[in-house]
Amino acid sequence: MRYIFDNDLHIHSRLSLCSNDPRQSAEAILRYAEDNSLKTICLTDHFWDASVSGASDWYKKQDYEHISKALPLPQSDRIRFLFGCETELDRNLTLGIAPENFDKFDFIIIPTTHLHMSGFTCRGDENAAERAGLYIKRLDAVLDMELPFEKVGIAHLTCGLMYTGHHKEVLGLISDSEFHRLFAKAANKRVGIELNFDSLSFTDADREAELRPYRIALAEGCKFYFGSDAHHPAGLAAEKANAENIIDLLGLTEDDKFRL
Ligand SMILES: [Zn+2]
Ligand SMILES: [Zn+2]
Repeated sequence: MRYIFDNDLHIHSRLSLCSNDPRQSAEAILRYAEDNSLKTICLTDHFWDASVSGASDWYKKQDYEHISKALPLPQSDRIRFLFGCETELDRNLTLGIAPENFDKFDFIIIPTTHLHMSGFTCRGDENAAERAGLYIKRLDAVLDMELPFEKVGIAHLTCGLMYTGHHKEVLGLISDSEFHRLFAKAANKRVGIELNFDSLSFTDADREAELRPYRIALAEGCKFYFGSDAHHPAGLAAEKANAENIIDLLGLTEDDKFRL
């Protein structure tokens, strides 16, 4: 059975400093879920735990006290509106959430590809080859951690932020066999793999470059969830058409769905 687009587990509210959009309220997000017949959505504002030292100035302001202002989340009969976070992995491979706080969240998103934060997640002057090395090292590091993987998602693995303007070059430097190894490990941990890329504005060549890691992940038995990563209402409005296209491009079925 074809994968039903019924989830969006990566959504920011106005509380994320990079949103700061009063229109991006929990109520507006719930309406988006209702309008698109979604069953499970999750709020995942940027988060660094105050009990983990080393936050950047930007993350320091986004602790639990800040992001929990979204609670309680509005609910509806047909939709599970969950509370999660998008935490961070710094350049020392320290995760921005302490184990004693895992229980505060229904879902924890870990981005391994946020290499745009010079000095915090990387030096900042790395070339494409070094970034390909970091891509592998950071994903391996997360998969080697003691985490409640049944409620963990790996964010946007083909995200432009890994090397702004050149991310396809980075992906191209990672071999099929390396991706197979990484995604076999991810499938074994039962971690969620996020589908979060703009599939509708691709050239044919770019589309294949972007899809290659996910095709390999699929072959290795990974499970997938959708993440609009919306910071504004326009991002929510654009998600359904993009998600339906990704389902077709990858030939996803209900068996491939990550279930919280
Ligand atoms: Zn992100
Ligand atoms: Zn995000």
